[in-house]
Amino acid sequence: MSTPLVFIDTETDGLHPGRKAWEIALIRRDHLGQTETHFFVGIDIRDSNPDALSIGRFWDRHPSGRKMAGLKALPDSVNLLTQHDAAKEVMRWTFGAHLVGAIPSFDAEIFARMLRSNGYLPSWHHRLYCIESIVMGHFGRPVGGLRACAEAVGVTVPDGAEHTAMGDARTVAEIWDVVMAGGAR
Ligand SMILES: [Mg+2]
Repeated sequence: MSTPLVFIDTETDGLHPGRKAWEIALIRRDHLGQTETHFFVGIDIRDSNPDALSIGRFWDRHPSGRKMAGLKALPDSVNLLTQHDAAKEVMRWTFGAHLVGAIPSFDAEIFARMLRSNGYLPSWHHRLYCIESIVMGHFGRPVGGLRACAEAVGVTVPDGAEHTAMGDARTVAEIWDVVMAGGAR
């Protein structure tokens, strides 16, 4: 049985060492097939970088962000988890898997801190797979970030999907499928 894969993306509040994820998407492939989950995470924003929050449209999309911006609540189906519950979900979904992302060490660092500070243990495979490096190897030259990689292999990023956790995680998975199936168009 091969090692499971989890395609990941987070929207975060900055690049600083104590940065936090406020949105997480995980797409897991294992012997049972493919499943996905997406949730927002409640965060303390006192040390957040406002520009970073804006990139992922925190004030439009995050339930607490919307409230602070004076916007109406989104439907109840929107999933807002505490740090503790988010850590538990991330541990469960990433267990024993290779994480695949655009610079996955960036997300893994956040996950590791979140898990440990909530009593959980990072248990994904230590070998992370970076889709940007995979695409660089495929073409034999640096290609750039996630959007550039998608364009280079013929993957379309739907309008509004970029800088949403699930949109970006899906883009990573699609690029993986094109390149690893040996068929960059
Ligand atoms: Mg993203």
